[in-house]
Amino acid sequence: MTLEARHVLEFPGGYTRTTGPVIGRFLTELRDGRLVGVRTAGGRTLVPPLEYDPGTGDAVTGEFVEVGPAGTVESWSWVHAPRAGHPLDRPFAWALIRLDGADTSLVHAVDAGDVKAMRPGLRVRPRWRAERTGQITDIESFVPEVTKIVSPVRTEYVLKPGLALARFLEGVAAGVFVGCRCGSCHKVYVPYRLSCPECGIAITEEVEVPDTGTITTFAINNLPDPRAPEVPFVSAYVLLDGSDVPMITLVGGVAAHEVRQGMRVRAVWVPEEERTASMANIKWFAPTGEPDAEL
Ligand SMILES: [Zn+2]
Repeated sequence: MTLEARHVLEFPGGYTRTTGPVIGRFLTELRDGRLVGVRTAGGRTLVPPLEYDPGTGDAVTGEFVEVGPAGTVESWSWVHAPRAGHPLDRPFAWALIRLDGADTSLVHAVDAGDVKAMRPGLRVRPRWRAERTGQITDIESFVPEVTKIVSPVRTEYVLKPGLALARFLEGVAAGVFVGCRCGSCHKVYVPYRLSCPECGIAITEEVEVPDTGTITTFAINNLPDPRAPEVPFVSAYVLLDGSDVPMITLVGGVAAHEVRQGMRVRAVWVPEEERTASMANIKWFAPTGEPDAEL
């Protein structure tokens, strides 16, 4: 026969002790919905705060810093069957959580729904109780951060040339390049645009620039393109005379290996009766035969 005596240690009404300034500050901040740590003399942030640096035994500095509220799960233990007194009445994890900005970790419950959702590195956030009293249970549990959503996507749009591009293409239809000059920095942009990318101000002055220019850079292409079916062909940035920004175009009327930086070129327009309001009006740029320009 086994003798057995059951002992219960209980303080009816609760056991009251004072918290001291460090833990007290932590609990007070919890009541206000904030998480704080305390700094050690060595610059580490302890969460939960302690009165002494566990590494050196020195008193902490008394400097409190806000941490989290999000953090990262370092390790955990899954509770399949919660018991009375556990923070949740459904399976959950006891986890070691490193709050953002903290150098130590705290233990708290993670309500992940399923053990399969738990992993080291899982990002979690506190779920606060509405009524807080200054206890660690003011955080009911931590919950995984929302990291993805599934939402139906459908977009439908019609592209129209903006006012500026429309104005430029109008010019191209008439065989001229329409640009604009910024009233502040005086740069000339071709194609025409409504605002200066450098000054950010609206541009109102329209200018026409000649159809001659200088090749600033170029590339020899060995793959055919609908606009340049014969390879190799050359695409180049051409700085039109009087413009400050080069435009990209094809180069023709010259062997690819003869194209060079500084080469002077002129637009070759399609015959007037074939012109439309599009860049197809320019067949390409061909050498003018002038001496190369200084870049
Ligand atoms: Zn400007």
